[in-house]
Amino acid sequence: MSDKPHQNLAIIGHVDHGKSTLVGRLLFETGSVPEHVIEQYREEAEEKGKGGFEFAYVMDNLAEERERGVTIDIAHQEFDTDQYYFTIVDCPGHRDFVKNMITGASQADNAVLVVAADDGVAPQTREHVFLARTLGINELIIAVNKMDVVDYSEDTYEEVKEEVQKLLKQVRFKSDDATFVPISAFEGDNIAERTGAMSWYDGPILLEALNDLPEPEPPTNAPLRLPIQDVYTISGIGTVPVGRIETGTLNPGDNVSFQPSDVGGEVKTVEMHHEEVDQAGPGDNVGFNVRGVGKDDIRRGDVCGPADDPPTVAETFKAQIVVMQHPSVITAGYTPVFHAHTAQVACTIEAIDQKINPKTGEVAEENPDFIKSGDAAVVTVRPQKPLSIEPSGEIPELGSFAIRDMGQTIAAGKVLEVTE
Ligand code: GDP
Repeated sequence: MSDKPHQNLAIIGHVDHGKSTLVGRLLFETGSVPEHVIEQYREEAEEKGKGGFEFAYVMDNLAEERERGVTIDIAHQEFDTDQYYFTIVDCPGHRDFVKNMITGASQADNAVLVVAADDGVAPQTREHVFLARTLGINELIIAVNKMDVVDYSEDTYEEVKEEVQKLLKQVRFKSDDATFVPISAFEGDNIAERTGAMSWYDGPILLEALNDLPEPEPPTNAPLRLPIQDVYTISGIGTVPVGRIETGTLNPGDNVSFQPSDVGGEVKTVEMHHEEVDQAGPGDNVGFNVRGVGKDDIRRGDVCGPADDPPTVAETFKAQIVVMQHPSVITAGYTPVFHAHTAQVACTIEAIDQKINPKTGEVAEENPDFIKSGDAAVVTVRPQKPLSIEPSGEIPELGSFAIRDMGQTIAAGKVLEVTE
């Protein structure tokens, strides 16, 4: 770990515009591809007689391993710059990209938007910028990628930049002064060094732009919220719930409550990385055990919090949603599965209260009959089974969700208020 301030960074952009390549390049340039992996690739490269040890070779292997789903998972990769310690909070090209962006283990503070110079603004560029705004991402760095493909043309760069600026204005992204950097993730231009390929450019290169990001706001004083990922039985210890602390701290001796299972007790021990600790905080993955709480008392989807300030269980809640893709229309009575933190619960959209103009955030229609892809709306939701969820204004980490149906993410949203 590092003493530098931490940033959760999302890499967003249209498919094939170079997100994975950029992540690979950032890991490579900052020396964050694990040494044993580099060593292994170096040996393979030599065996195959591939003379020099090339970035492309590392990338090919990272891509291959990613496809096989082993060893390297681009999501949750980490690297550091002079200024910050970065965690990449989403897996570029991941099937559940949107869902991860919303319910992902950690919310992104800032994002790099990758736009290919030879393609410009594409459908997912729009979608992701819109989501980034909805989800409260602070700053965008726009990496105009594949500059090598357009012969490092300054004119093309300016055209793409103008197109993106127009888009940012349309969705009212609050930062007018988003930073643009022309790069080639593949060739390594303007990532860690000015290679001279774009002598017309004198702005910050990508690592400098990352260094210049504002520091994330310090963690809130929110109470403990620890969504339970799994519940294990470990001999000699007993029942061990595990999960990632979203807010607050967990200490041995604390009195905790699991909701909605509605059980609780005193925390006996807390473990991180197989070692007992005196305290764990936001971002820590912990295993712990609680006096009197057995394996059948709690389950995945429960949230652990202080006994005197327990997680909220919602009878109904109001939420703002954005419909990403739905083959037809959504009407009142629709009951898809809501994914919130580690919980998956069928919920009925009881009422569509308002249709919202996705560009301005203003109310466009009261009580519409239906909403469809591209629409934003305020809806009233009733979980079909008890669900612990919180207003995102109070505990953002516990206030977002994705709506899934027919094997895909159809909408994303944030909780506005909860009726208990
Ligand atoms: P993603 O879908 O956004 O993650 O895109 P990838 O990183 O998988 O890249 C898509 C394709 O574009 C791959 O074949 C990459 O090798 C290629 N690519 C990515 N960045 C660059 C670049 O800067 N220059 C060139 N020439 N090709 C690139």
